Amino acid sequence: MALIVQKYGGTSVGDPERIKNVARRIARFRSMGHQVVVVVSAMSGETNRLIALAKSIQDNPDPRELDVMLSTGEQVTIALLAMALKELGLKAKSYTGSQVRIVTDNAHTKARILSIDEDNIRTALNEGQVVVVAGFQGVDENGNITTLGRGGSDTTGVALAAALRADECQIYTDVDGVYTTDPRIVPEARRLETITFEEMLELASLGSKVLQIRSVEFAGKYKVKLRVLSSFDEGGDGTLITFEDDDKMEKAIISGIAFNRDEAKITVLGVPDKPGIAYQILGPVAEANIDVDMIIQNVGADGTTDFTFTVHRNEYAKAIGILKNVQAHIGAREISGDEKIAKVSVVGVGMRSHVGIASAMFRTLAEEGINIQMISTSEIKISVVIDEKYLELAVRVLHKAFNLEQGGSPLLV
Ligand code: ADP
Ligand code: ASP
Ligand code: MG
Repeated sequence: MALIVQKYGGTSVGDPERIKNVARRIARFRSMGHQVVVVVSAMSGETNRLIALAKSIQDNPDPRELDVMLSTGEQVTIALLAMALKELGLKAKSYTGSQVRIVTDNAHTKARILSIDEDNIRTALNEGQVVVVAGFQGVDENGNITTLGRGGSDTTGVALAAALRADECQIYTDVDGVYTTDPRIVPEARRLETITFEEMLELASLGSKVLQIRSVEFAGKYKVKLRVLSSFDEGGDGTLITFEDDDKMEKAIISGIAFNRDEAKITVLGVPDKPGIAYQILGPVAEANIDVDMIIQNVGADGTTDFTFTVHRNEYAKAIGILKNVQAHIGAREISGDEKIAKVSVVGVGMRSHVGIASAMFRTLAEEGINIQMISTSEIKISVVIDEKYLELAVRVLHKAFNLEQGGSPLLV
């Protein structure tokens, strides 16, 4: 008998038929004698609908009230799934985040889980119940409802698996595993049987939304056995996130390509080229709690230089406003920006031992006439910022150039 945590995403619980389908899958695991804790998302489209509703009242919805509202999406699904399980003759009990007691910090709309009280769940499991938990939500120490950021049900699933020391955490979604890139953009993308935790962390942080980054961080920290599977197929093995770099004979140099349309670029032109200037520009941005991703400072000429960085698109207007306020103080000539950019990244642990990946990437983009605006690298990834309109083309040509549909042998390098 194993203890399994299963998480079902929005599409997988998108209508009553799909919820019944999920209930039947859970029933099969129960009939094999396993204990099952299920985490569910809101029905597909529901979180977006609620956000739009809030914005129809307040342009910038109050974060505390937004969380009160968003948490209702998942609350509906847990009740429906518990009903569907009871219809099948199973014992089932639904729990909101606060009923479990998933305690988070108080950063509304992007809270972090601090602790999970597992007693209620253990008791219910010992009674033979299927425990159905609302994803994406918790409570802070004062009892305020919080949410964990978009895609946060993945993190609830993995955090519960860690707290309960579950044998496996299964993330059921609308694709049958982690692919070399988003299969909706590149139909030739290939499912990976395994991917290292390190690579998955990079892919998630660079925009592959198949797993929320914090869920991967949790899995790494607590050594949770994590698998991504399809809720629509039967019997597939999905993709297992592994901790060790297994010694496959032919290890691909590149494992996958991630992309992100959520960033915007800001350039501060004609600032004095002197010590402290980066701090003067980014200090006020950081104080406003705005995360900065890529940063470039040009070589100075005539005692001035240009400084460019990227922020999340949601925070673009705010960041521009902050910089306009300090423009005179910094002595900048102009503040400009571009919201229509995208970031494309190639990721692979094999890059550590191979040179030439960056030049292969740059050549491939150049051959398509795609201009690279910014570059950043780490040991296992190379990211470039390009014009958003070339994003899909860039992902497709890179996928082909690195031969990812056939196992990623490094034809190009
Ligand atoms: P859920 O609602 O189940 O949480 P998400 O929409 O959050 O599902 O995540 C699944 C989606 O992630 C897929 O439908 C796919 O379009 C996208 N995706 C992006 N990159 C990848 C990738 N490398 N492998 C698989 N899916 C990916
Ligand atoms: N319902 C939330 C969202 O749409 C959380 C999740 O689905 O993981 O982001
Ligand atoms: Mg998701």
